[in-house]
Amino acid sequence: MSNPSDTIFSKIIRREIPADIVYEDNLALAFRDIHPQAPVHILVIPKEPIACLADAESQNHALMGHLLLTVKRVAEQVGLQNGYRVVINNGQDGGQTVNHLHLHILGGRAMQWPPG
Ligand code: AMP
Repeated sequence: MSNPSDTIFSKIIRREIPADIVYEDNLALAFRDIHPQAPVHILVIPKEPIACLADAESQNHALMGHLLLTVKRVAEQVGLQNGYRVVINNGQDGGQTVNHLHLHILGGRAMQWPPG
């Protein structure tokens, strides 16, 4: 797996490439997905370069909770009062394409189940 400090998401954190940022604090950043799969599609990422959920350690437990609470805060901020889906793709079979942990917020339409 590639170094998470070298991904496109670290470049967004460092403002080396542009993104439509909707929320930022000292631990997390949220920005709109460049290829949205729903009317609202936002990614929440830790600033710390953790490659994937499987790489999170017990020492990251507060950060992991912060990321979920950031999802809730951002969803409220953008008006997803009817609900939304949160997705973490992990590793190859999970369909992960960017090796920097990210939580997808998908909303603005009714989601289907099961996912593909
Ligand atoms: P995943 O497949 O779970 O790894 O999701 C990676 C997501 O990052 C995809 O939904 C991409 O559309 C999105 N993405 C890739 N590059 C960018 C970018 N420069 N700005 C915003 N979203 C991006």
